[in-house]
Amino acid sequence: MSKRAYQYRFYPTPEQAHNLACTFGCARFVYNWALKLRKTAYFQEGKKLTHNTLSGALTALKKEEGTVWLKEVSAVPLQQALRHLDRAFTNFFEGRAEYPVTKKKHGGQSATYTSNAVTWDGTDLTLARQQEPLAIQFTKDKAGRYFVSILVEEEITPLPPTNKTVGIDLGLKSFLVSSDGETLANPKYFARDEKKLAKAQRRHARKKKGSKNRENARQKVARLHARIADTRRDFQQQTSTRLICENQVICLETLAVKNMLKNHKLAKAIADVGWSEFVRQLEYKAAWYGRTLVRIDRWYPSSKMCHDCGFVLAELDLEVREWTCPACGVWHDRDVNAAQNIEAEGLSVLACGGSGRPARVRARAGNSR
Ligand SMILES: [Zn+2]
Repeated sequence: MSKRAYQYRFYPTPEQAHNLACTFGCARFVYNWALKLRKTAYFQEGKKLTHNTLSGALTALKKEEGTVWLKEVSAVPLQQALRHLDRAFTNFFEGRAEYPVTKKKHGGQSATYTSNAVTWDGTDLTLARQQEPLAIQFTKDKAGRYFVSILVEEEITPLPPTNKTVGIDLGLKSFLVSSDGETLANPKYFARDEKKLAKAQRRHARKKKGSKNRENARQKVARLHARIADTRRDFQQQTSTRLICENQVICLETLAVKNMLKNHKLAKAIADVGWSEFVRQLEYKAAWYGRTLVRIDRWYPSSKMCHDCGFVLAELDLEVREWTCPACGVWHDRDVNAAQNIEAEGLSVLACGGSGRPARVRARAGNSR
């Protein structure tokens, strides 16, 4: 069984939007309140508050006169807000995230319900599934759009096996070049929309604080961000799904993205391309559909080595897009040759643990939409 989340956009009626706004507000209040309690307890008394302590404190808080309005919304999203805070701290302690910060009114909003608590008057939220969902989350993003995410546990049928294998070279010039010779252009959405975004951000900064115009300008910036993110995600989802459908084994070189990000010139371009998200999608889809993803996790002379005879060039400048092997005379497109080498290395890793060079194979299950 795999956990899988389905996300849909929805358009609430004014009344529903009002109810949601109340719930979002209460969940945000509880999150911030609990964050402050945890901080104070830690920094003033060196104490670590457990989920149970906070849960008890929340029950008491709802009885206090000043905060009795917390009772007006479902109790579940408030409990879930405590869980989210718990997870934020765990992520922080395990080095995956920054220290939790206060949630703001203009940030993204969310309210999570467990399945037995889903009663939302006036909706047509029907689930065409046998299983009870594990959780349902309503969100409103910075651009003011509403989404509902339904987390279910389900059996995912593996795809029929195929003999096809592929090597992939991820790059900046092209997003992806495969050992079949396919080139996918780099979606430079961000670069294209960057000017628009910069302009919108300047306009936002000029508006008077607290004014209606400033709020409008903020929404415009948020909408541009959302559009860039959406287009990129769609492109990555389509590409990763297609590669997983077509191939039994996918080999790719995992570039040291973190190290490359230290190079500022490259950093922006890499962040724009979004390799790590793409590799993550390939990983969980491989696990879902019974495919194998082979990652070559270290330096390997994929570009400089002739795929036909194994000759390794002493140097190959980044600008050189094609070359002829001095040993066997075969002409190579730089990236296709690299992808072919990655495929060969990946398959040899699978067959016998690699060609004597250290490499790691990973196929990890994950969950996402
Ligand atoms: Zn050669």
